[in-house]
Amino acid sequence: MVKSFMPKTLAEALKICDEHDVCPIAGGTDLMVRNHQSAGILPTFTKDMLFIKNIDELTVLEKKDMHLIIGANITLNRLLNWENTPQILHLALQEMAAPAIRNMGTIAGNICNASPAGDTLPPLYALDAIVCLKSIAGERELPIREFILGPGKTALKENELLTAIKIPIGDNNINFYKKAAMRKAAAISKVSIAMTAKKEKDKIVNIAIAIGAVGPTVVRLAEAEDMFIKNNENTGKVLPDIYDVYDRQIKPIDDIRSTAKYRKQVAMNLLHYVYEKCIK
Ligand SMILES: Cc1cc2nc3c(=O)[nH]c(=O)nc-3n(C[C@H](O)[C@H](O)[C@H](O)COP(=O)(O)OP(=O)(O)OC[C@H]3O[C@@H](n4cnc5c(N)ncnc54)[C@H](O)[C@@H]3O)c2cc1C
Repeated sequence: MVKSFMPKTLAEALKICDEHDVCPIAGGTDLMVRNHQSAGILPTFTKDMLFIKNIDELTVLEKKDMHLIIGANITLNRLLNWENTPQILHLALQEMAAPAIRNMGTIAGNICNASPAGDTLPPLYALDAIVCLKSIAGERELPIREFILGPGKTALKENELLTAIKIPIGDNNINFYKKAAMRKAAAISKVSIAMTAKKEKDKIVNIAIAIGAVGPTVVRLAEAEDMFIKNNENTGKVLPDIYDVYDRQIKPIDDIRSTAKYRKQVAMNLLHYVYEKCIK
């Protein structure tokens, strides 16, 4: 029989994490499905559960020191309705799940679930988001690309909680997000792309492109992004070289949602689309 802990403070929660082998649960929209048995039977958990939804310290949502700070208990819906949510993340949230799930699910849960198809991940990679982690021993921060190690794998230590997500406030003026899935909404991505860029006097001076569900983690290629910026002075000529970088490094797999061939083709098509519609 597993135990349930429902701490009201972060200090209490971190002490529990230190003393017990617990599984944190926020909205439960991934965990309930992952531990589902069959219709009419309650999900089965193998670890003691740490319910974190009552911890007020995890509901922070503010602008501070040139960053947006999003507490681990902030739901997807709250973020969708926050006036400061970066446009690229807002575009992804709009197409994510359905209102009932967005009312329960958190962005922290989407990150910790570490699914290559997690919809907030490409925008968060493109925005250079940072995750804030805390344990009884102290706190640390990691760029999201170092936190997510592979499908379902993160750098979270057993006694740690993700407490917040920090997003640097930027001034990019072009944002694009596209998700290819079975339906327009309430469907898991087969491929997704997030692009944020700054254009000044018709020149791209800053760009980040992140592609989801085409590898074990989100793909972001600094080499190709630098080439996009150089392409400004050399219009069109380096484009085949840029696509070649993506072509070599995008290595999707077949799974229940799609085939590697489809994913590769759609990812390359989306890159062309991003260039034609947003960058050129
Ligand atoms: C019908 C349905 C549709 C969905 N559609 C989509 C979709 O379109 N796109 C998409 O990306 N996802 C989708 N999901 C998945 C899910 O809703 C999201 O991943 C959601 O963001 C998970 O958040 P949560 O708070 O419910 O996570 P939970 O289920 O509570 O937790 C998920 C994981 O994160 C860990 N965790 C949570 N919070 C913390 C914390 N603070 N510190 C450490 N670990 C933590 C948990 O231990 C667990 O491993 C869907 C799910 C359902 C059921």
